[in-house]
Amino acid sequence: MPEAPELEVVKDFLSNNVVGAKIDVAWVLKPSVLRSLCGELTVDIAGREIQCVDRRGKFILLDIEGGRLLSINPMLTGALQYCAPSQRVYKRTCLRFSLSNGNELRYIDDKQMGMVYYVDKCQATEIARLNEQGPDVLDDFTFEEFKDRLKRFHGEIKGVLTRGRVISGIGNAWSDEILFAAQIYPFKKRKALSEGELRRLYEQSRQVAVDAIPIVRESIGNNIHRKARDFLQVHNRGGEPCPRCGNAISQITANKRITSYCRRCQPGMLFKN
Ligand SMILES: [Zn+2]
Repeated sequence: MPEAPELEVVKDFLSNNVVGAKIDVAWVLKPSVLRSLCGELTVDIAGREIQCVDRRGKFILLDIEGGRLLSINPMLTGALQYCAPSQRVYKRTCLRFSLSNGNELRYIDDKQMGMVYYVDKCQATEIARLNEQGPDVLDDFTFEEFKDRLKRFHGEIKGVLTRGRVISGIGNAWSDEILFAAQIYPFKKRKALSEGELRRLYEQSRQVAVDAIPIVRESIGNNIHRKARDFLQVHNRGGEPCPRCGNAISQITANKRITSYCRRCQPGMLFKN
């Protein structure tokens, strides 16, 4: 489940490795992940060069020669893989692109939950959810702008953060990390956050992501499809000691997702120490 820190590393890797390469051949192995608004992908994309790689929130965007755009939103189970053509094709491989640099770019997805769009740039508005997103967590925005965006959303702060409309690129894992760093109870209602908490949330959202990027880069190297989550402070570490206070980390599953936090460092209404 790649989020902004992982996808930023993927974006940089692709910028260094696939920009300037032509797509010689494309194969669609699992058509359910693909929406092409430019006819058959395999026919249209062949011979075109990858000109630029960008990221917006949880979307990787490849500019393809001739005004085409390949948008990849891996959602919970997708990932990009860059490898030699001889590398075994995983069963979960959905798309393969053979590149003129001798390597392959593949989109793999266990559950085919992700979504790949191939469009003309003027059709970018057709890409589901791309334009609903808030500014990226690594973008420059002021505390006032952050508060202003946040004001429009109600409910528990973790849910507000992960929806991607206030700031984008943060999912289940990194929201736990950010809330831990900001010392905020994940289920606290957005309206109940103090000015101090809002300030910490604003600062830590960016800081946690910025700090994570070099660690993720080091950890995954060329294996951009790998998950690198060993170094997280609290997420999925229920029962282990809190790195800040030593208290056991709490972990609960709600709405099919795990939330991990420290009851002592992130006190909430239900749990008081
Ligand atoms: Zn703690």
